[in-house]
Amino acid sequence: ITASVMDGDKFEDGQPADLLESRTKSALEKLQEDRKTLPIYAYRDELLKAIDEHQVLVIVGETGSGKTTQIPQYLHEAGYTKRGKIGCTQPRRVAAMSVAARVSQEMGVKLGHEVGYSIRFEDCTSEKTVLKYMTDGMLLREFLGEPDLAGYSVVMVDEAHERTLSTDILFGLVKDIARFRPDLKLLISSATLDAEKFSDYFDSAPIFKIPGRRYPVEINYTKAPEADYLDAAIVTALQIHVTQAPGDILVFLTGARKVVLATNIAETSLTIDGIKYVIDPGFCKMKSYNPRTGMESLLVAPISKASANQRAGRSGRTGPGKCFRLYTMFNYLTELEDNTVPEIQRTNLANVVLMLKSLGIHDLLHFDFMDPPPSEALLKALELLFALSALNKVGELTKVGRRMAEFPLDPMLSKMIVASDKYKCSDEIISISAMLSIGNSIFYRPKDKQVHADNARLNFHTGNVGDHIALLKVYNSWKETNFSTQWCYENYIQVRSMKRARDIRDQLEGLLERVEIEQVSNLDYEVIKKAITSGFFPHSARLQKSGAYRTVKHPQTVHIHPSSGLSQVLPRWVLYHELVLTTKEYMRQVTELKPEWLVEIAPHYYQLKDVEDSVSKKMPRGEGRAA
Ligand code: ADP
Ligand code: MG
Repeated sequence: ITASVMDGDKFEDGQPADLLESRTKSALEKLQEDRKTLPIYAYRDELLKAIDEHQVLVIVGETGSGKTTQIPQYLHEAGYTKRGKIGCTQPRRVAAMSVAARVSQEMGVKLGHEVGYSIRFEDCTSEKTVLKYMTDGMLLREFLGEPDLAGYSVVMVDEAHERTLSTDILFGLVKDIARFRPDLKLLISSATLDAEKFSDYFDSAPIFKIPGRRYPVEINYTKAPEADYLDAAIVTALQIHVTQAPGDILVFLTGARKVVLATNIAETSLTIDGIKYVIDPGFCKMKSYNPRTGMESLLVAPISKASANQRAGRSGRTGPGKCFRLYTMFNYLTELEDNTVPEIQRTNLANVVLMLKSLGIHDLLHFDFMDPPPSEALLKALELLFALSALNKVGELTKVGRRMAEFPLDPMLSKMIVASDKYKCSDEIISISAMLSIGNSIFYRPKDKQVHADNARLNFHTGNVGDHIALLKVYNSWKETNFSTQWCYENYIQVRSMKRARDIRDQLEGLLERVEIEQVSNLDYEVIKKAITSGFFPHSARLQKSGAYRTVKHPQTVHIHPSSGLSQVLPRWVLYHELVLTTKEYMRQVTELKPEWLVEIAPHYYQLKDVEDSVSKKMPRGEGRAA
């Protein structure tokens, strides 16, 4: 099993250039030959003509037909880049990086020069860049600086069928600017699904179909439902290996990493040409959101019929394929939804609402959504932004909100940074924010050295300072060693994650300057915790007699995640960064809190009765201590 090299892997700067040097001219020629074999090539002229004639074009074509890598190059070759950049959005960071790398190779240029990419916290573009691949979220942010996208001659919203939150918001924004920018070309490209819907939304824009090479795929179902889809996937893979003709196998798992069961394919290429067998357990990890409580969780959920067909199609790209569905045909027919619910209908909207407000879009209920989000979710977002003082009572952006919108972070994190100005600890707060943005990949725990790793980790928790301060201590200690790799090894800390935190922190430093927050250091933990509370006060929880916690607003039972430095301490009042649902609803990244801070910092949100401490209701010893 070879884990795909795609996820999380950053292309080292200069990699394509190194490749270029070692590659002979004929290799470049070979790449040019390959371009001509793609299904889209036969339609090159027709496509350019259609783009010339129409302002908005919906383009559909099978995965692998050449939409992402070729269309921007065709447009460049046809002279569109003389009038402005060509932007191409991708829902995933990894895709933006890898296609940009591929296209730079095909064009024989250094990545970041004519062809570049832009993803959150990483801008690999330059003055020269004319083909810019980026995440949909990054293009959204570009509207803040350039509301009419004046620098672009073409915007291609790629993988539109994925219907990510940012893509859906982009639809509304690009549709709007296309009206007063007749020179701007808009391409909406997607893998076969929902083309009519896109066309309808974009005022009956024509649909350009790229007929794919598609070989027949034989679909096999299990006879009975599988109890353990992971186990079933492994068994099926082995069975294919033993009983079927040669050909590579692709297994769709729910985890963060795509796993391709492959020969050396993952070494040299990110695309998975040559896949003949697909094993589809029928699940994916999906975000879901409860607007009542405002809780977001990642759940393993059944995929849609559209996804199932997409997955099966991956096996028929280079020849006839087979797809093994680890569910019954009855399941498929009766239980799978036709299409995946768009993200906009199952996510927290606070971020997007803040963005739209800062773009001057006030009437959110009448924003031109392709599929509108539930109104409770919109209200919830407005409520949160009001609580964070980003919006005033009538829903207008405040000065705080304007500053917050400059940060490409969730509103609570942005608020914590903006609030650090008042507490004079911005230096510490941006370190903590950067570390929180890395997620939970900072410490590692090798099987044979678990005790050592745990001890190293506990070192940062001395004094039960809480997870946020522990993260700060990790960052500061690393900095004191002059960012030593050796130090990371000794402390069981992922050096790659730390480098990323440092990059993010550097960017946050720049943003501090932009919003005129002075970078000052203050190592008083109480003050730092108050700044954290200014952003995260809605995430407070109180210890119960049972040893579990209850969130203060919208009461819900939660627990401290075992990875937290406070999981054995159980302070009476805590504040958490996020909730994750695994076997239980866990709070991850937890810090002790004094309840009076809540009323001091967010008097409009908490009343005394919310935080009245149960001191009188005697807590048994060891169950907690008064904060
Ligand atoms: P589409 O967007 O229609 O799915 P792409 O333009 O991404 O198609 O890919 C077209 C072809 O280009 C693929 O079939 C593959 O052969 C090649 N290709 C794309 N990306 C890469 C890459 N990162 N490395 C190697 N080959 C690639
Ligand atoms: Mg593509």
